Amino acid sequence: MTIVVKVGGALGNRLDPVVSDLVSRTDYVLVHGGSESVDRLAEALGHPSEYLTSPSGVVSRHNDPAQLATVVMALAGTVQTEAVAAFARRGVRAVGLSGVDGRLVLAERKHGVRAVLGERVVHVRDDWSGTITRVDGELLRGIAGLGCVPVIGPPAITAQGEIVNVDADRIAAEVAVALGADALVLLTNVPGLLRDVSDPASLVRRVDRSEIDAVLPFAEGRMRKKVLAAQRALAGGVGRVVIASSQVDGPVSHALAGEGTVFS
Ligand code: ADP
Repeated sequence: MTIVVKVGGALGNRLDPVVSDLVSRTDYVLVHGGSESVDRLAEALGHPSEYLTSPSGVVSRHNDPAQLATVVMALAGTVQTEAVAAFARRGVRAVGLSGVDGRLVLAERKHGVRAVLGERVVHVRDDWSGTITRVDGELLRGIAGLGCVPVIGPPAITAQGEIVNVDADRIAAEVAVALGADALVLLTNVPGLLRDVSDPASLVRRVDRSEIDAVLPFAEGRMRKKVLAAQRALAGGVGRVVIASSQVDGPVSHALAGEGTVFS
């Protein structure tokens, strides 16, 4: 069984329990986000992060050149290196790869992003974000074949060799499709998709692929990306997708046992 596990990077996510839970398994890859680390570094560098909301309600980072440089430093630098070290402490050889390494995640630059500004929809041109066109599954299988665990995160690279930021949930979905994964586990700082974001008891437990459009209106902001990633993964042949908490002990095992929102 191949599983792709993605751990979020927003405040409240915990990496250590995820790594502890994974090291007893074989045949998995880890994808990481790191939004909180990017925001903290951006603040410290005097260029705070900005977020854009698309007309359909998806919230994304504004990747201007300074922000993109911060993404590279925080994600491909600190967060990824720390994740690889967390495996090393448990005796597991992990290899950190951004989407740029080995051209693992190929993307097309989005030319201008549409964003809602007050009452208006504006075209933001100064943005280096991309849409994933291909993930190199062979490269990941090669690394796994050497007995190493791939640890993957943003950014990605275009065919012209430009660095572009892409969403880590999207990377996880495309990695899962490229590997023909049995399961994609998206671990985050909430128990799963909630009907009411302020009520942890309002967890949506099961979603059939035909019902995804019906539950999408519950998902605001960045949760929307996870539901869209789940939809993409299922459409690409992944067996099931679970959105679940990274805040419990044994988060991967709990998610695979069905604790969270299971899309199938
Ligand atoms: P991560 O970094 O863990 O990937 P994100 O911040 O990108 O996390 O997405 C998780 C967040 O999505 C939650 O903390 C919550 O604030 C927000 N959210 C919006 N709508 C919902 C919903 N319906 N159910 C759960 N979370 C939601």
